[in-house]
Amino acid sequence: MLIAVDGPGASGKGTISRALAAHFHLPHMDTGMLYRAVALNLWRWGGDPASEFEALRACDVAAVDPDDPELRSEPISSIASRVSAYPSVRTALLDRQRQFAQQPGGAVLDGRDIGTIVAPDADAKLFVTASSEVRAQRRVRELLERGLPAHYEDVLTDIRARDERDSSRATAPLRQAGDADVLDTTSLNVGEAIAEAIRLVDQRLKK
Ligand code: C5P
Repeated sequence: MLIAVDGPGASGKGTISRALAAHFHLPHMDTGMLYRAVALNLWRWGGDPASEFEALRACDVAAVDPDDPELRSEPISSIASRVSAYPSVRTALLDRQRQFAQQPGGAVLDGRDIGTIVAPDADAKLFVTASSEVRAQRRVRELLERGLPAHYEDVLTDIRARDERDSSRATAPLRQAGDADVLDTTSLNVGEAIAEAIRLVDQRLKK
């Protein structure tokens, strides 16, 4: 069984995807981490995010520690959003995501283009969303919990800028797949959001 979960940053898609993976006993891939790893590589090498060529050279992400707290920092989030707009970067990361999606037994993947590009044949697709204000509040809480600096107004501005970049880029923009179920988590707590996600997936699987 293949489950695709897409949506903007801090919508709750990561938490929901991990819960779906646990519930249906499936492996999970957070594809945003691949783009963040490229961004961190580029930043550490002193590369220029405005250069597609340099961003492509940063795509060998095998050496990046997935637990590095820097991956979740705001500067890296912003660079990730910029480098993910480059077609060559997206192509370089696509195979790894498709292989994960096609493994026997299935998988859960979350990102921006899973239901549209990476796994258009997924058995169930969720588009998880929430208001930008609520997403900024969640991101601030998450950053502070990780011991990283965070100011609400700055985070809100960043989130809106990233939404705009992710939605307006020419290659694989953030877009709801035609056959995705929308899950708006603005007024849901974590437990409610997870329960609704499981209900929507179960409903799809029965169709
Ligand atoms: O989901 P997350 O916020 O960790 O993703 C970081 C950045 O990576 C996003 O802003 C987005 O630009 C990019 N991304 C993408 N396609 C994906 C996953 C993430 O373009 N499938």
